[in-house]
Amino acid sequence: MKITHINTHILSSPLETPFAFSQGWVANRSATLIEICTDTGLIGWGEAFCQGLETPQIAAAAIEHCFAPMLVGANPLDTEKLWFEMYHRSRDFGRKGAVMAAISGIDIALWDIAGQAYGQPVWQLLGGAFRREIERYATGFYRIKGQGEAGRLADEAVMHYENGFRYMKVKLGFGVADDIEVMQAIMKKIDPSKTTLMVDSNHAYGRAEALYLGQAMGDMHLRWYEEPVAPEDYEGYCELRRRLPMAIAGGENEHSLYGFNALFDAGAVDIAQPDIGSCGGFTAARHITALAQAKGVEVNPHVWGSAVAQAASIQLIAALPTAHHSIFARQPILEYDQSSHPFRRELTTTPIEMKNSLIALSDAPGLGIEIRRDTLERYCVNQAALR
Ligand code: CA
Repeated sequence: MKITHINTHILSSPLETPFAFSQGWVANRSATLIEICTDTGLIGWGEAFCQGLETPQIAAAAIEHCFAPMLVGANPLDTEKLWFEMYHRSRDFGRKGAVMAAISGIDIALWDIAGQAYGQPVWQLLGGAFRREIERYATGFYRIKGQGEAGRLADEAVMHYENGFRYMKVKLGFGVADDIEVMQAIMKKIDPSKTTLMVDSNHAYGRAEALYLGQAMGDMHLRWYEEPVAPEDYEGYCELRRRLPMAIAGGENEHSLYGFNALFDAGAVDIAQPDIGSCGGFTAARHITALAQAKGVEVNPHVWGSAVAQAASIQLIAALPTAHHSIFARQPILEYDQSSHPFRRELTTTPIEMKNSLIALSDAPGLGIEIRRDTLERYCVNQAALR
């Protein structure tokens, strides 16, 4: 089997109501989708993660100008070999960010092809499912005004609970005093025996503010405190790990086995959060999971992409071993973003299967998705057909 061509599909749509996370206002939802075609007629789909403030053209350009020319003619089943060829080719100008997202999207599409070629879901190729049902958590609590929204956000927590969520992640990083007000308002509205909270400040603070905020949340039984400081500040991560009671999480802005190796060596995180669309795809996620296992670090992937990234993340989460085994071991949960995403639900003909508010694992080959061409066309801002 040979790769015949690679298409990138850049999707973008303005949001009716822009919202903020701590790093800025999001006015568009975007995605960089990758379609890899083969001489057998099999087609694989992948997605390069496009952060809320990132333009989707960056990863598409890396694919178009760097990776597609070297992949045409290659055997798509050579997933490990091609991953290292792409990484080595781009080492001097890549390793992080959008270039790694480009490699990730390609790698996801290659595993989708492999699954279809072998007639197996990706989770089977990864070594089998540790779980057939996956719990979701609601990521929400974005800001519409920025500050002073504690009342509305507390009502949002009630809405997520009524929609079946037992885990929720609150976006913080809008000033420590405002953050604390929000958390106290939410705690008053939820029953802590039924709802578990996580928080995410998207590295809004330096160590002192991050510590102060963490101490104010010390009795809220948080499952984790995500990106409390800048991704580069390993020492800050370590200090917060030493001084705060809750688990410290990070890694959505880290990449590849090399990046996560440095993060783990520093002892920076209790929970690693690689994003399948930017850590380097399934191939890198396997490397990272093995490293994490050796270091006693829990892996709970980050997910904020379209239906393609969601489908890939479900395959990965199914195949993740627990870091600390017991008969009641804590299981990884799927990030289920509640913000507006115009083309997420309309992107596939195969919506995520639910069973009692849990995600039921599918046995369909590859990623198990069928892409709707009409949705691609509706939201496509640029399509580069690469030969
Ligand atoms: Ca995050």
